[in-house]
Amino acid sequence: MAAFDWFWKAMGGKQGRNQKRSLAIVDQSEARREELSNLEDAALSARARKLCDGGNLSDPAEFLAILAIAAERTLGLSPFPVQSQAVLRLLEGDVIQMATGEGKTLVGAMASTGFGMMGKRVHTITVNDYLAARDAAWMGPLVSFFGLSVAAVVEGMTPDERRQAYRSDIVYAPVNEIGFDVLRDQLITSREDAVQHGADVALVDEADSVLVDEALVPLVLAGNEPGAAPSGRITEIVRRLKEKTHYTVDDERRNVFLTDEGAHELERALGINSLYDDQHVGTTLVQVNLALHAQALLIKDVHYIVRDGKVALIDASKGRVADLQRWPDGVQAAVEAKEGLAVTEGGRILDTITLQALMGRYPEVCGMTGTAVEATDQLRSFYDLRVSVIERNKPLRRFDEADRIYATMAEKNAAIVDEILRIHSTGQPVLVGTQDVAESEELAAALREHDVEVNVLNAKNDAEEAQIIAEAGDIGRVTVSTQMAGRGTDIKLGGADESDHDAVVQLGGLAVIGTARHRTARLDNQLRGRAGRQGDPGLSLFFVSLEDDMIAVGGAGEDVTARPEADGRIDSKRIQDWVEHCQRVTEGQLLEIHSQTWKYNKLLADQRDIIDERRSQLLDTPTAWNELAERSPERAQELAGSIDAAVLEQAAREIMLYHLDFGWSEHLALMDDVRESIHLRAIARETPIDEYHRIAVREFKNLANEAVAEAVDTFNTVLIDAEGAHLDDHGLARPSATWTYMVSDNPLSGSGNSVIKGIGSIFR
Ligand code: ADP
Repeated sequence: MAAFDWFWKAMGGKQGRNQKRSLAIVDQSEARREELSNLEDAALSARARKLCDGGNLSDPAEFLAILAIAAERTLGLSPFPVQSQAVLRLLEGDVIQMATGEGKTLVGAMASTGFGMMGKRVHTITVNDYLAARDAAWMGPLVSFFGLSVAAVVEGMTPDERRQAYRSDIVYAPVNEIGFDVLRDQLITSREDAVQHGADVALVDEADSVLVDEALVPLVLAGNEPGAAPSGRITEIVRRLKEKTHYTVDDERRNVFLTDEGAHELERALGINSLYDDQHVGTTLVQVNLALHAQALLIKDVHYIVRDGKVALIDASKGRVADLQRWPDGVQAAVEAKEGLAVTEGGRILDTITLQALMGRYPEVCGMTGTAVEATDQLRSFYDLRVSVIERNKPLRRFDEADRIYATMAEKNAAIVDEILRIHSTGQPVLVGTQDVAESEELAAALREHDVEVNVLNAKNDAEEAQIIAEAGDIGRVTVSTQMAGRGTDIKLGGADESDHDAVVQLGGLAVIGTARHRTARLDNQLRGRAGRQGDPGLSLFFVSLEDDMIAVGGAGEDVTARPEADGRIDSKRIQDWVEHCQRVTEGQLLEIHSQTWKYNKLLADQRDIIDERRSQLLDTPTAWNELAERSPERAQELAGSIDAAVLEQAAREIMLYHLDFGWSEHLALMDDVRESIHLRAIARETPIDEYHRIAVREFKNLANEAVAEAVDTFNTVLIDAEGAHLDDHGLARPSATWTYMVSDNPLSGSGNSVIKGIGSIFR
């Protein structure tokens, strides 16, 4: 208990009081359990429901007692008092710190059930698909006991299955699935196509990973650009056109215009009446312009080269190939077609949201993790969340050794192998945490040379990894894993069935070895936490070399000397302290980067909320028709004379939404460009963030006005009949295919969002 006194004091004592009150309630609830356990299932459930009337808990002690009895009856797990305490803190909206193996899955399910009973819809956010499915199934009986429904949402489910699942009171899902569904719901043109129905509470497992470490990872929805690339036939015809006769180019050679003769030539060759009639303006003509742009303005070996069957842009100012750039997609495809190359699938970013913004959508957020205390500052400043530390059910018996520090990386690596071999020779299981997949592979290879059987996890297959990690505590096991691999599955001593539990206890429990200190102590502690669960013995030990990344970054500019021993080891208190110091520096840097980046993201997140609200208004009310009819009364009257009002309402809705969504997508591309270039302004001593804000606000205003103006334009010209608005024929098709990704696995290209830029002036 004493270890956390400083923490409670640091929290101004309020958290301390909350905790004391919670403990008193838990004591009462323990005392009530016996008397209540005489009641039948139905009576208990009814009684619990009554306690939740009005969305508040009238008697938390009794409520916890009932939850505990239900857990015992349905799952065969009788919650420990610390688990009940954790449930209470979650229900009050805290992030709880609870060590690995203390039973957070049950805690989360009890709290979710509690929220559900108060009439709140809960999203329980898991680390991956595998855990979402496992936990929903495992905890299902507890939830059903109270007449609530539960489901999991995982990759590969159809929209219908998702819609059905989201109707449940409690939904288990990984954060990316939830985010992707939010993004996809942003494309619908009728409300019944939405798969989500909103939620009141997000209960986040591994809360520090989601809320802090990955907070600024953007989830992205991209779509293809139908009809953007010119067909081979158009490319061929355009190739035959002559400058001056069929088209003209302005003096700067930046714009190209079709002459009447050129247009006739095309119409003749394509066998169409007019390039400029409704049917062709948005489609054929766009393609012709793209092909012409590629033909007349972009010159091979000046603007681009062809290399390995691909078009590579030349950076005009540097005269070198600009590897990560591409033109707007239609242009890129037109140049590819011109050169007779395979045309790459065009795509544009339709919408994007960071995990932090996603979490901001929930009225209530709470969470659980083994390592919350070190994230207290971030949780408070970014989410206004407080941290409650829950004591262990049984005292910790893990031994955390002092770091072993070496001068060079090579000496460190040799020492790591030696230490693993030494421990392994006793039969004690070893779990090694590495910094990345490559290091895992190298270390495994080195160990195999010594005839050690090694299991390597590399965060690729969650279900398989869960199985391997569950066995990592068995006699003689050596498991090598990156930080994230197998998270959420706890390691029992003596194998998943614990058959050799006592033997492994005799050997000292699980030994955890870190091959380097991470950039935050929190990540180190996540790894340490793998050992010593539920009062088991265990060992943790980190290796450090003065050549490690963390030291290079955190100790940059500092000259520290030390005298190593023959094997490179540096056994010095001063250097130990210095390693800690370097880590505090890197922690500070990460926090600073987070706050800075969030400043950029926050504004876009707010703007996205406004778009969201506008979309809802357009979807759920006749606003679209009303606004268009007001601006274009004659057209409205003409249509209203012959077409059903409901059809017109939907047509107006689709027109408005099309331009709003297109404008938003353009806005994202533009702001991404601005952000890439804005740092140049810092040199000119302007504040980049202010400048960024100024542009974002200005452009957003334009977006709103333009979306309406263009919608009016479309309303006046597009064919609207009994089937609705024929936007596709008008060149305003929505993407026929969309795909999602997190930026860490962007399939489009390596350079972030800016590769996909809005179609430039050639479209206007
Ligand atoms: P965490 O997520 O906190 O690491 P888990 O939820 O995976 O822990 O639970 C670890 C193990 O403890 C599971 O096997 C679970 O069945 C068990 N467990 C949880 N609560 C209890 C309890 N009250 N009594 C007995 N076993 C429990």
